[in-house]
Amino acid sequence: MRTWQFSAPAALIVLFFGSLAPTCAQKPPILITADLRDTPRKLFHADLEIPVSPGQITLITPQWIPGTHQPLGPVSNITGVVFTAGGKALEWRRDDVNLYEFHLTVPAGVTTLHAHLDCIVTERVSQKLAVLEWEDLLLYPANTPVREIPIQPSIKVPDGWGIGTALIPIGGGSYPFPAAGATTQFAATNVEQLEDSPVLAGQYFHEFPLAPAITPKHYLDVASDDPEDANLRPAILAATANLVREADALYASHHYHVYHFLLTLSDVAGEEGLEHGQSSDNGVREKGYADHDHTIPNAELLPHEFTHSWNGKYRRPVGLYQPDFATPQQGALLWVYEGMTQYLGNVLAARSGFETQAEYRDLLARSAARLDYRPGREWRSTEDTAIAASVLREPGETWDNWRRNQDYYQEGELVWLDADTLIRKLTSNKKSLDDFERIFLAKGGNTGPLIVPYTFDELVADLNAAVPYDWATFLHERIDDINPHADLDGIERGGYKLAFQAEPSATEQAITRAHSRYQRGMDYWYSIGLRINDSGEIEDVRWDGPADKARLAPGEKIIAVDGRIFSADALHSAIRAAKGNAEQIHLIVQADSFVNMADIDYHDGERYPVLVRVDSTPDYLDDITRPLTTPEKAPAEQQSE
Ligand SMILES: [Zn+2]
Repeated sequence: MRTWQFSAPAALIVLFFGSLAPTCAQKPPILITADLRDTPRKLFHADLEIPVSPGQITLITPQWIPGTHQPLGPVSNITGVVFTAGGKALEWRRDDVNLYEFHLTVPAGVTTLHAHLDCIVTERVSQKLAVLEWEDLLLYPANTPVREIPIQPSIKVPDGWGIGTALIPIGGGSYPFPAAGATTQFAATNVEQLEDSPVLAGQYFHEFPLAPAITPKHYLDVASDDPEDANLRPAILAATANLVREADALYASHHYHVYHFLLTLSDVAGEEGLEHGQSSDNGVREKGYADHDHTIPNAELLPHEFTHSWNGKYRRPVGLYQPDFATPQQGALLWVYEGMTQYLGNVLAARSGFETQAEYRDLLARSAARLDYRPGREWRSTEDTAIAASVLREPGETWDNWRRNQDYYQEGELVWLDADTLIRKLTSNKKSLDDFERIFLAKGGNTGPLIVPYTFDELVADLNAAVPYDWATFLHERIDDINPHADLDGIERGGYKLAFQAEPSATEQAITRAHSRYQRGMDYWYSIGLRINDSGEIEDVRWDGPADKARLAPGEKIIAVDGRIFSADALHSAIRAAKGNAEQIHLIVQADSFVNMADIDYHDGERYPVLVRVDSTPDYLDDITRPLTTPEKAPAEQQSE
């Protein structure tokens, strides 16, 4: 372990570390009771007792939710707000500028304000389960660092539902299965930590302890809509336990007292991945881990969110850490926060056995090809996608390849693979990015939940501590510059090259089989330059590709292909038939309320990305994805490479 080395200005360090627990201990806590018993009707309720002094007071709800990278706290869904003091209702007025603030006047003699509020919840709930992210119900004094506001949470859930959370239950009771009608009380914390401590509740609930030899303790808490889904397959339990051991070996530290993977399996509650310091909120479809095909698209979910406990929660870019949830977060270093997590999450997915090494390579090919065929990179740098992150979350498919969206995830993955293979090459494979992670993410050794901000300069210094190199230039060139092509150096130095073949890879076919249940559509991106859904509606057109040159546009619907009514088979046949000859592919498309003809001049057949081994180079990719620990294998479903 190294000693603390901060590049942050001294004043920042005082702000972040000079104001810890003692202040909390002296102030009486806000008491908040969350009532989830109306979950099936999409309503959460809360009652809060807020310590106050007489006079003007401003209360606020969270706006910049950590991990979401955007200023969209749930204020628009907060309803039924009533403030009372001494049994009398108090008038309130919303701030005219900051719509998350409530102003009111506390009468003389009043020391506790009661607030009731409801939240309309449309995500992460179903008839059988709920995930409470506390920002849905939080209300606390404005203009105060949230770390300095003590709060004691309690929760009520429907009778018979189990509870999973990293919060510490107190006062006895029957956690994780509360008695009917009981309120489960948790130990006092602060508003920053409570926002970081979601609660999973569900009727079909299982808590699985993981890797008992590892300290601190880890649990996988699962709730599902169908009771059989919460009984996870042995292969998933083994992979998750392997993940705990692999992360322990990779990061050589922990920054939590306990860790809970919270997982929902539901077609209603939505797909989700939101990191927290001592837990993560993970959601997959109902059958998301039911068999290996379905697991592949979700293979990196738990490894990614778990990695964030180190990279993102413990170590956070200075601009992304603010003292409250009202100050805008700055995303310029998201290619580290998310991009390096994307890389490490995928590596850990392979090391832990959620996917095979071959599947890792197929998924890497998929991601690298997507980036390389992304014309928006001709005008926009990766850094710009990070700076603009808050306006690029879920922006829609239309011309997405020309705009780009949160490309800092996958671009970051390629850059960190580039760095990993470079370190291996410079050291004859004696060192790797793992050595850098043990410097950067393990500073200070084991800690409880803590946020330690970093700057670009500290990142570069730590890379240099792992292996001396001109890392600043390396990163600037790949992140800040306009690069018309994706960074494929890591793949090539890793012993492979990106190529295209006429058939989708085995992994791509497995994903298609899994997705067919959910109607995910067809991918002609690397051939005619179209992404379309099952009914022929065009989701996106590759800028400057063959379909773009034929003037096709997102939102149009293909009605006929070469004289036949549209079907996936008809389009596949037409692309194959046009290969190597002069005949164009003739389409009839519906554009709004009109019908057009379009002829696509394309003759190279179907093309799907794959990584091809280059025998003359070391196979670093397989070195990178090899487990560091002895993996646990599930008895029934051993994966073979
Ligand atoms: Zn992430």
